[in-house]
Amino acid sequence: MPENTAPSASVTVIGLGPMGRALAAAFLDAGLHTTVWNRTPGRDGDLLARGAVPAASPEEAVAAAPLTVVCVVNYDASDAVLRRPEVTTALKGRTVVNLSADTPERARDTAEWAGRHGIRYLDGAIMTPTPAIGTDDAVFLHSGPADLYEEHRPVLAALGGTHTHLGEDAGRAAAYDIALLDIFWTAMAGYVHALTLARAEGVTGADLAPFAQGIAAILPPLFTEFAADSDAGTYSGELNPVTSAVSTMAHVVHASEAHGIDASLMRVIEGQARRVVALGHGTDGYTRVAEVIGRR
Ligand code: NDP
Repeated sequence: MPENTAPSASVTVIGLGPMGRALAAAFLDAGLHTTVWNRTPGRDGDLLARGAVPAASPEEAVAAAPLTVVCVVNYDASDAVLRRPEVTTALKGRTVVNLSADTPERARDTAEWAGRHGIRYLDGAIMTPTPAIGTDDAVFLHSGPADLYEEHRPVLAALGGTHTHLGEDAGRAAAYDIALLDIFWTAMAGYVHALTLARAEGVTGADLAPFAQGIAAILPPLFTEFAADSDAGTYSGELNPVTSAVSTMAHVVHASEAHGIDASLMRVIEGQARRVVALGHGTDGYTRVAEVIGRR
């Protein structure tokens, strides 16, 4: 059991999709009295056998513990549960940590709603997949009142990994989340496209994968370098000017389309880079694109 987690502490988990189940399992493993509820019954898997207490309704669930962790598909779903009048009433004076993913605006709106109803509210985001939950690899981001976060930190620590409080603005965790999801999904789209293109050239995924990992390994130092460029507004292209980058993007478009493969994603990327060149910044580095797309 992680340090500082009182064995008598109790928690409620609303939402038993793959992630909600992983959160509830981690709480149980840490010895917390864990109450669970899900819109569709029967999703509690082996949680009940492991000691979880099923609640008959969401209002009964939230009344069972001082802290409710919500993890459903998005904020339409969390609203559909939390804003039921009987649930809102039962939550008064209690704390909600909403670990569902959505936009910063939805997080701020929920914090404002909670404040109006006397509900103590922390927002959060989970940056790692379900197998990481309860291990050192889990990554959680939190935002909202610092004293509330400190109060519930011992229970949240039962989820394992690293917890970072990003500030009082309820939307801050979601702001990091959407930016990080932006990286994740564009990278996934790039890789799936690359596998398709390689296959069309007779290259198997297994053959490509080690080299793909080599490309991925180039990125971490570039992330740091590009972040400095973005923060400073300087876009040095000494080693790889946009004019050169555009040419390699065009190769991907042409090769894809020759095989009848949808190249619309790379066409967008190429188009943005060509706008940089057309605006007279062809000798700058690729990060100059941030200035062009940000102006839209
Ligand atoms: P889903 O994103 O598929 O969410 C499923 C859960 O949402 C179920 O409990 C489902 O209930 C509930 N739900 C959907 N619509 C409603 C509604 N209208 N009212 C009430 N409940 C509803 O699965 P996950 O558990 O994987 O994800 C939960 C959250 O965690 C998401 O925001 C996701 O982005 C985030 N996350 C997930 C990760 C993962 O690896 N799975 C990684 C990082 C973050 P029902 O069973 O009744 O349909």
